[in-house]
Amino acid sequence: MGTAMVAGNWKMNTTPRQAAALVAEMRPHLDAVRNVVKVVCPPFVSLAPVAEALRGSTVSLGAQNMHHEESGAYTGEVSGAMLSGLCEYVILGHSERRQHFGETDDSVNLKVKAALREGLKPVLCVGEGLTAREEGRAEQVVDAQLRAGLDGVDGVSGLVVAYEPIWAIGTGRAATPDAVQAVMGSIRKTLGELYDREDAAGVSLLYGGSVNPANAAEFAGQPDVDGALVGGASLEAGSFVAIAQAISSARNPSPQA
Ligand code: PEP
Repeated sequence: MGTAMVAGNWKMNTTPRQAAALVAEMRPHLDAVRNVVKVVCPPFVSLAPVAEALRGSTVSLGAQNMHHEESGAYTGEVSGAMLSGLCEYVILGHSERRQHFGETDDSVNLKVKAALREGLKPVLCVGEGLTAREEGRAEQVVDAQLRAGLDGVDGVSGLVVAYEPIWAIGTGRAATPDAVQAVMGSIRKTLGELYDREDAAGVSLLYGGSVNPANAAEFAGQPDVDGALVGGASLEAGSFVAIAQAISSARNPSPQA
């Protein structure tokens, strides 16, 4: 099993002031959650104020995207070199970026390689659309995305994979834990084929798609699910903390009396 983890994707929400206030509200409660890596991913402009608000905390910071080049004439873009030192993680290949900003498996692959070069931990997002799910091709689509995203990547140290079926994101219609486990099992198997089996077993696999405090434990209780990538519910301090607590309890059950 990989390390238990919960990551919040704030998407294009919160001003820098709101972001610092939100993380200040979560921080003491998240710090109290043991044995789970906790990550918040605010918009670029809020990384510095949130880093400041998290100084001395156990909560880590992530970005939501980056450009694969180190620097250059790419107006409006942010590189991995700029992020490294400011945050530890970077979400790459989120389906919203694939859908709205033309990201492809190839461009995501360049970003994964650049992130690893810069010492960032990529959270590589994969996931099928509704048609593929209905046609029974979910595992096939995810496998192809995973292999393409990792093409030419030598090792998986630091890598996190987020399985996010597109039809479950922001819809309130989460996948079933059994369906998630089936895909996660195949992701783990593919990683074991591509890399050292022990390293592959240590990669954190996150489920994302309408995760909330009520369903988080069921996902985290699956053998190949190490935690969650949370969108909407990560913008509400109480919900995100409750999800982190649920993952902690599911992954570290207290001994039976
Ligand atoms: C996401 O955007 O990564 C996500 C999983 O969103 P939500 O939790 O809102 O479905």
